[in-house]
Amino acid sequence: MNPFFLSLAFKLGLSIFLVSSVLLSGFGIYCIRRTAEGRPLDSGGIAIGFLLCILLITLAGAFLLRLLTYPRLHNTVRCLKAVERGDLTVRIAQSRSQDELGVLARGVNHMVGELARQRAELEQARDAAEQASRSKGEFLANMSHEIRTPMNGVLGMAQLLANTRLSPEQREYVEVIATSAANQLRIVNSILDLSRIEAHRFSIELGTVDLCALFSEMERFFAPSAREKGLALEFDCPADLPQIRTDGGLLRQVFTNLLSNAIKFTPQGRVRASVQCLEKTGDECTLRFLVGDTGIGIPEEKQKTIFEEFCQVDGSHTREHGGSGLGLAIARKAVEKLGGRISVSSEPGKGSEFSFNLSVDMESGARLPEKGSPASGEEERLFDARTLVVEDNELNQRVLARMLEQMGCRVDLAGNGQEALRQLKLSAPEGERPCYDIIFMDIQMPVLDGLRATAMIRAQEGGSRRTPIVAVTAHAMKGDRENFIEQGMDAYLSKPIGQPDLRALLAQYC
Ligand code: ADP
Repeated sequence: MNPFFLSLAFKLGLSIFLVSSVLLSGFGIYCIRRTAEGRPLDSGGIAIGFLLCILLITLAGAFLLRLLTYPRLHNTVRCLKAVERGDLTVRIAQSRSQDELGVLARGVNHMVGELARQRAELEQARDAAEQASRSKGEFLANMSHEIRTPMNGVLGMAQLLANTRLSPEQREYVEVIATSAANQLRIVNSILDLSRIEAHRFSIELGTVDLCALFSEMERFFAPSAREKGLALEFDCPADLPQIRTDGGLLRQVFTNLLSNAIKFTPQGRVRASVQCLEKTGDECTLRFLVGDTGIGIPEEKQKTIFEEFCQVDGSHTREHGGSGLGLAIARKAVEKLGGRISVSSEPGKGSEFSFNLSVDMESGARLPEKGSPASGEEERLFDARTLVVEDNELNQRVLARMLEQMGCRVDLAGNGQEALRQLKLSAPEGERPCYDIIFMDIQMPVLDGLRATAMIRAQEGGSRRTPIVAVTAHAMKGDRENFIEQGMDAYLSKPIGQPDLRALLAQYC
């Protein structure tokens, strides 16, 4: 309020208050004197007069009180409203007085100051946590690279060794090496998967998914381990189930984790996976996914915690089954990313059932043709292909070269991108396309890395037929594959290299 009007109103209120008080006092004296003189009083008039005076005094008093306190209360309210909007820089002015309003104002100022301090501390902690999370991602990417590179040597050499003439005892040793390396790799992969899903900037990648094809793929993948344990493996996918839009990679990961657990923790009986459409509304349908087994089951008190990271029902050193305790945590987070919630029902000794519902969009198109398992005889097929292996690590060079040679390929070697470009020039007359049928290109190399070398090869090729370039790398973080393809490569082979994957690539490109 304008200070001039404020002081005017204050003076007016004060005057009314004083006049009313004087009137009331005068009236009182008048009544006392008349009574003392023995003169009769007009009681009605007196009562009305009194009431009028009291009313005036009350109104004027209230008016004055509001006038005196309003600006200070108004300040306090304005400050609190600003705090409500998130502005913690405001403070109440003139909070020095010792009355109640002064105490209130100082209290509010103190509280807002405290909030501001805590917010600054929280922001600092958040920034530090974000930085730590970024560092963790980078650390994992680097560790993944560093662990996978030697692992490629171990697994690759074990595979090559297994293909040679060995005594039964030697074969057993080789198998132990291969299994141990594969187990270690699985743990590395689990940790990477978890950090990948947890990553701040993780976004799901929607695509068309044929659930029955996904189930067939899972069946092919798990059939050997189920057979080995004598378990029945059943997959139930209704033939009329439409294709859906979801993140196929995440869904595959959930099923892989649930099914490998089901097989691991079931000594006899069956393991079953099913999908069923619960409800269709327009283009959307609600699907129910189940993975059940007749295995050892999970005690009720453990059912709440098994979805936590590193939680295992039997955490003792004598536990029969291996594992890192990350599989279900990954499955839970993946299902949550897909918009569902995973749950378990289980009875010890009878079995377990993991289930979740997802609401997804249906695709109207026809089913995708199912990818068949590699044709029989593919295992034995020889490829008459000329290949270039670009890799700086000598051990990995040898592993890949030997694998390719065993598959019938001719192999040239280059130690980095620059050497690869030189090789390509040697192998092709000026102006003609390089005569390699396929190039296997490591990404991280000294002098000239794989991506820059690929860009230069593509620039040299111009519009002529392009040579397939396969990224061979121990980088296995999310988005790497897309990044490589975007930058001119054709396919991606993750280290450690498996012979079946290599064979499939050669079959595709050569
Ligand atoms: P792990 O690598 O130990 O299998 P998971 O996170 O996948 O880690 O599972 C956590 C724990 O939950 C397992 O160690 C096991 O005790 C229990 N569990 C998971 N799935 C099953 C199942 N199908 N039957 C019995 N117990 C299970």
